[in-house]
Amino acid sequence: MVRARRLLGIWRQKDGGCAGGRMSAGKDGPVLAAVQQGVCGVGDSWKSRRIVLGRTKMEIKVGVWRREPAKQAGDLRCLWTWESSGERSRDTVALSPGVTAMLVLLPATMFHLLLVARSGPARLLGPPTYLPGLEELWSPQALLLLFIWLALQVALYLLPARKVAEGLELKDKSRLRYPINGFQALVLTALLVGLGVSAGLPLGALPEMLLPLAFATTLTSFIFSLLLYMKALAAPVSALAPGGNSGEKGPNEVGVRHMGCLTVPSLSVIPPGNCIYDFFLGRELNPRLGSFDFKYFCELRPGLIGWVFINLALLIQEAELRGSPSLAMWLVNAFQLLYVGDALWYEESVLTTMDIIHDGFGFMLAFGDLAWVPFTYSLQAQFLLYHPQPLGLPMALLICLIKVIGYYIFRGANSQKNTFRKNPSDPSVAGLETIPTATGRQLLVSGWWGMVRHPNYLGDLIMALAWSLPCGVSHLLPYFYLLYFTALLVHREARDEQQCLRKYGRAWQEYCKRVPYRIIPYVY
Ligand code: NDP
Repeated sequence: MVRARRLLGIWRQKDGGCAGGRMSAGKDGPVLAAVQQGVCGVGDSWKSRRIVLGRTKMEIKVGVWRREPAKQAGDLRCLWTWESSGERSRDTVALSPGVTAMLVLLPATMFHLLLVARSGPARLLGPPTYLPGLEELWSPQALLLLFIWLALQVALYLLPARKVAEGLELKDKSRLRYPINGFQALVLTALLVGLGVSAGLPLGALPEMLLPLAFATTLTSFIFSLLLYMKALAAPVSALAPGGNSGEKGPNEVGVRHMGCLTVPSLSVIPPGNCIYDFFLGRELNPRLGSFDFKYFCELRPGLIGWVFINLALLIQEAELRGSPSLAMWLVNAFQLLYVGDALWYEESVLTTMDIIHDGFGFMLAFGDLAWVPFTYSLQAQFLLYHPQPLGLPMALLICLIKVIGYYIFRGANSQKNTFRKNPSDPSVAGLETIPTATGRQLLVSGWWGMVRHPNYLGDLIMALAWSLPCGVSHLLPYFYLLYFTALLVHREARDEQQCLRKYGRAWQEYCKRVPYRIIPYVY
């Protein structure tokens, strides 16, 4: 078995020129990928080989031999050149109809849910009972309210933080700094809204504004993503995300990108590629204005905090309509507040999620964070306002138990991994069994992460079930979140597996053998 620790490369340009550089095993370089995918190994002669690097299928010419056999058995010396990587551009073009469809389908689904939640039949499948006109969707007051909300969250983000955390190391070896004050923002928002309500702010009127608010947020997300895309066109290669850069299609560009250690001045900026694809996925990894990080800000603040205040407004309106909020409405509000409070309390752990370390910031995340989360995640509370459901105490207690079990697994798994990643010798994780990897990091193979490969997703899904159950079983609509979230997590799990396989190679394969189930023990 070949474990590549350090690779010495000579990269040949099309015109025959050469550049040399070093690359560590942790980087997702094509030569390392070739070694990990078993298409070449120590002592192999100079030959063409086909490898897969992310979504890129490429053909490289590579020769690999041992560098200092006696001293560093894992070390390799390589020579390589790109012969062809044209399939990447074909892949990207093939993806763009799907991406274009998503640009329309995501907002359309959100408006469909908003409309059917308030309609009599509340059918998840089938058309809504009416389609609103532009005069019902467009409201300058809603746009103003959205901007006030965003400005408030920006101001709270800029307040002094109890802690400033460093993110993971970037391609250029730097680390970004992030304020950890999301929970503080939630509490201060609650205080301000509480003061506003006691001074006569009609929070209960918010549900009537949901459609125009969602419309204003969708428009804003489109314009915001366009600005992000334009900003990213001038971003240096080192600032780009692994996806969302379809301009990176020529052989040399891919080589430069993945080697990282080589500097080729003429290719320091990747040219624009398929603009729809890049607009959707996001070209730049961490777009910032000074120290203000747009992706980090959007990830947990305006949308997530907005979601709990939409829920609260729905609860207040239910109380105004029916004298008091129903038990089902209380449960949905309490469960989802706990979820948002938890995300903000453990805000620092977002810095190691795929969204922050891997995904570019484009329409997918901007629309998802700003519009999709507050307007579709509040679907159960919206449904309950228009379709009250009786809920007895025994059933309520059973649902609470399901929520507690889900939360216990979710929090236990996330905290165990975060503690382990921060300090593997922490007494709470020091006794756990691990698998070493070539990168120097270890993989947990007992505890929560020995049960399934994504125990945190399992807990999250159990909690999602607990959010839907208070809405009864007469309609499918309140279970939309559970269905959508299952699809999202299955897809996310597959993406994460691919990345981990690239990162950890055979160690990851060994982990998969030891822990065969992905999310649900003995089922999946
Ligand atoms: P995870 O927190 O599951 O992190 C995956 C990473 O964990 C891997 O890339 C790897 O990174 C590390 N890892 C995997 N296996 C092991 C192991 N055995 N030992 C040690 N480290 C391991 O990823 P997500 O960002 O997808 O999820 C974070 C949370 O957010 C989850 O609880 C999820 O349910 C939730 N979530 C919620 C969403 C919502 O809309 N409500 C949407 C998406 C996620 P490395 O080795 O580099 O550390």
